[in-house]
Amino acid sequence: MKFDFQAELDRRGVALPPVSVETLQINITKLCNQVCRHCHVDASPSRTEAMSAAGVEKCLEILAAHPQITKLDITGGAPELHPMFDRLVERAVALGKHVMARHNLTVQLDGHPVTKESKEYLPEFYARNRVEVISSLPYYQEFFTDAQRGSGVFKKSIEALKRLNAQGYGVAGSGLVLNLVYNPVGPYLPAAQAGLEADYKRSLKDAYGIVFNSLYTITNMPINRFRLHLEKSGQYEAYMDKLLGAFNPAAAEGVMCRSLISVGHDGRLYDCDFNQMLEMDMADARGALTIFDFDLERVMKRRIRFDSHCLGCTAGAGSSCGGVTA
Ligand code: SF4
Ligand code: SF4
Repeated sequence: MKFDFQAELDRRGVALPPVSVETLQINITKLCNQVCRHCHVDASPSRTEAMSAAGVEKCLEILAAHPQITKLDITGGAPELHPMFDRLVERAVALGKHVMARHNLTVQLDGHPVTKESKEYLPEFYARNRVEVISSLPYYQEFFTDAQRGSGVFKKSIEALKRLNAQGYGVAGSGLVLNLVYNPVGPYLPAAQAGLEADYKRSLKDAYGIVFNSLYTITNMPINRFRLHLEKSGQYEAYMDKLLGAFNPAAAEGVMCRSLISVGHDGRLYDCDFNQMLEMDMADARGALTIFDFDLERVMKRRIRFDSHCLGCTAGAGSSCGGVTA
């Protein structure tokens, strides 16, 4: 098979077993106020999948019972559109967990796409709970951001960033962390993270007075909506060749599935959010693993399910939900 990730690991003598479960990442809803071209979740205002109240309670039980799981990473869709989002954050914070939210910025201004509930309280809510906010901003220029995320998204994102800054986010000494995420607009590898971060910081400060902590560069994963786009435009093979050619063993060592597990809205467990979107369940000889029969020992003994898309995590400086891995 072409683009065989496991064969590439074997050829190089690289083994990647799990090392810990430091982060529980929950994909709490597929509902989103946006429809981005690269979205690997295929999220949109018409998606209805969301975690049940029992699922949210179970995740909190797991966090409470496992001190070694120190971080909760809440993602979606737009996670704030889930009716139990606020409660989940508050209770995880009360358990002493470091809580991160994948916040798309525009939801602050758009509100709930179905119920029309306002989400303008989010900057203050995040600051009160000292949530680490991680937000996508594909570029510091309007044209490129709107090309990827939709017309008008850049202006709204800038306004939302200003509101986060007003609460102290990204401001030195506040302890309130605001990280931005860059991903290329097309089938390219991201530029070097440090240089791009400096460009973002200078441009956003000069043009809008905006400050933030770090920029994470993320490689576009060749799955779902982005894969379809690549295939339709005849660029899939070339993109995969590029990822394979840039395979970096040091980046492979740091892939996030070695220290993170991902929870689907229905409670099924996955090695990462990408495997979740591909419905590649975490499984062992006894069957699929879920939050409802959570067993950390089974999780640690599992074999991570790699496939061709994993080349997106190991190309160049590597890619993960926290940026480069090498
Ligand atoms: S904001 Fe995020 S979850 Fe929503 S469509 Fe865009 S990439 Fe997907
Ligand atoms: S796609 Fe998921 S399973 Fe594959 S290397 Fe990346 S984090 Fe690991």
